[in-house]
Amino acid sequence: MGQLLPILILVAIIIIAGLLLARFGNSRHYEIELTFKQLKDYFLKKHYCMSCNNKLKRRAKEEYKGEGWSDIMNTFSYAKKYKRIYDLHCSICGRSYQSEQLNS
Ligand SMILES: [Zn+2]
Repeated sequence: MGQLLPILILVAIIIIAGLLLARFGNSRHYEIELTFKQLKDYFLKKHYCMSCNNKLKRRAKEEYKGEGWSDIMNTFSYAKKYKRIYDLHCSICGRSYQSEQLNS
């Protein structure tokens, strides 16, 4: 029970933040789908460009999926839905890489 409490508080904060945003009429929901390899490639590991060996930087892109109702932890709310996708970008040559193109 002692370990569950911080999680419950966090959930409560997220719901309150969601409700506040909804009240201001610009509620947005982000859908993020990452495999374990993608999570490692985009957030944990450093990768270098295959052409110029420059360190790659993570970029996030948002794909608009339309408006609608979502059920987040049993709270229904109306929001603009986005799907968030990542890639790694080289600022020197402009190449971008997906997790699938990188060697683990
Ligand atoms: Zn490069």
